Amino acid sequence: MSTLVFGHKNPDSDTVCAAIALADLKKKLGEDITAVIPGALNPESKFILSRFGVAAPEVVTSVAGKDVYLVDHSDLNQSADDLGEANLLGIVDHHKLGDVTTSQPLECWIWPVGCTCTIITEMYNYFNVEIPKEIAGLMLCAILSDTVIFKSSTCTDKDKVACEKLAGITGEGDLEALGIEMFKVKSAVEGTPMRELVERDYKDFNMSGKGVGIGQLELVDLSIVDGVKADLAADIAKLKEEKGHHSVFLMLTDIMKEGTELLVASDDDSVVGKAFDGAVVKDGKVWLDNVMSRKKEMVPNFEKAFK
Ligand code: MN
Ligand code: MN
Repeated sequence: MSTLVFGHKNPDSDTVCAAIALADLKKKLGEDITAVIPGALNPESKFILSRFGVAAPEVVTSVAGKDVYLVDHSDLNQSADDLGEANLLGIVDHHKLGDVTTSQPLECWIWPVGCTCTIITEMYNYFNVEIPKEIAGLMLCAILSDTVIFKSSTCTDKDKVACEKLAGITGEGDLEALGIEMFKVKSAVEGTPMRELVERDYKDFNMSGKGVGIGQLELVDLSIVDGVKADLAADIAKLKEEKGHHSVFLMLTDIMKEGTELLVASDDDSVVGKAFDGAVVKDGKVWLDNVMSRKKEMVPNFEKAFK
């Protein structure tokens, strides 16, 4: 029975590409392992896979009884619902340590870098395995995506070094252009149902006993969502009710202006001010300059605000 490797729900490009890359590496190290995804590909991931000619992994949502590796997460509520009934062999991740536990020792690669694929690039190096061209392309794009073309506060020197190495393998010359091409695909909202946009990159959190949902759309220009902003606001209010959450936030991040307009559906708007230096929510939204990262800015600031 093949071991499965997969990332978090609402898969993003790092989750997809890291699973494919780790499966490639582990196969070369002699393991019988298959990359799978916990849900449908987003448009950006589709673009990346087709650009480098790699087939989409199979969608698998039930993992009970399987040997598994996790990439790009270690939180139970972001993982397969029956992860507790699987045998966890290892984690490769770049988020804060989540709440998974194991009964056996496990292989753990959790580094404070901008992308799981940066760690996997180093793993290829560590195990002295050559990175195939198409895998290098996937990992390069995942790093550009997660670090918002090196602009995110999550980006580290290790991410840049990894990209240089990967670009050398793929022969990619202009990383900024590749990144913008990718984010244009990611920015497209036309004809997409509101809930799909809200949940495209969405995570639930438990903050001091309160349910908090945070979604994010990374846009090359905020004006792209002008026509749908009111509908997005209505949908996060609805999602908040459905989940019984205290708050649902949607980050509309302008990657060129390097800031975020935050749409707010909350029992108490003042948590936003507590989290962000007195920021005032008006008509359910507020501009947060220089805030681009859910992981580095939104989550830690809101966790403090909810304490
Ligand atoms: Mn991710
Ligand atoms: Mn990631």
